[in-house]
Amino acid sequence: MDLRNKVLEIHHRLCRAYGCPVSYFHALDPLSELVSSLLSHRTRNADSGAAFKALRARFPDWAEVAGAPVAAVEAAIVRCTWPEQKAPRIQSILRAIEAERGTLSLDFLADMTVEQARTWLERLPGIGPKTSAAVLSFSTLRRPALPVDSHHHRVAIRTGLIPAALAVGPSHRVLAAQLPADWDAQQIYDNHEVLMLHGQRCCFHRSPACGRCPLLDLCPFGQQRQGPHPVAAAVPQAEAPA
Ligand code: SF4
Repeated sequence: MDLRNKVLEIHHRLCRAYGCPVSYFHALDPLSELVSSLLSHRTRNADSGAAFKALRARFPDWAEVAGAPVAAVEAAIVRCTWPEQKAPRIQSILRAIEAERGTLSLDFLADMTVEQARTWLERLPGIGPKTSAAVLSFSTLRRPALPVDSHHHRVAIRTGLIPAALAVGPSHRVLAAQLPADWDAQQIYDNHEVLMLHGQRCCFHRSPACGRCPLLDLCPFGQQRQGPHPVAAAVPQAEAPA
């Protein structure tokens, strides 16, 4: 099977396992989604969600966050990891957006192509390809941009979609280029979500559950671990919380 067909086969099998279309979990404006993404880095969803809510409750708008004492922002987001680093980073990004655009909004990104919008976002301090794609895909912009998190990246390496030496950052453009050019935002979002879910629920970092994986016959890593196996029909189960 060539790479293009393999990408599609993996997508369709995982869509059958996890259910596509996957519901969007946010309906935030793009600036709010950007802040939410920054808070979520290396943080459990429940904790980053609580930090985001606390920040919104403490400050009536993003201008107030930008101008507040950094200690007050840090206190509001204490539920997320590294609030002492995230508070000044969020403030510096908000100030950079206001300095460049004259207003605190990212709604103008809707008028750019996906490539232009990602380039604009990635010029901001501390914004990489995962965050730029998340802002465009997860926010109300609903644009066809592919984020790659560590789970998605691990599954892509093990199934042979990308080489093991390709880091998460540069893998964004390689994995996006493998998807059909006419896929819409929902299909691109689904691709990210099902690969991420597969990494969370079956292709664990340690001890992947290859014996019940629907991708085993497509996966060199899994076959090396336990030999060729017919396609498993079972839907993967959730990994117990750490
Ligand atoms: S066969 Fe194993 S290593 Fe390959 S994708 Fe499935 S769980 Fe991951």
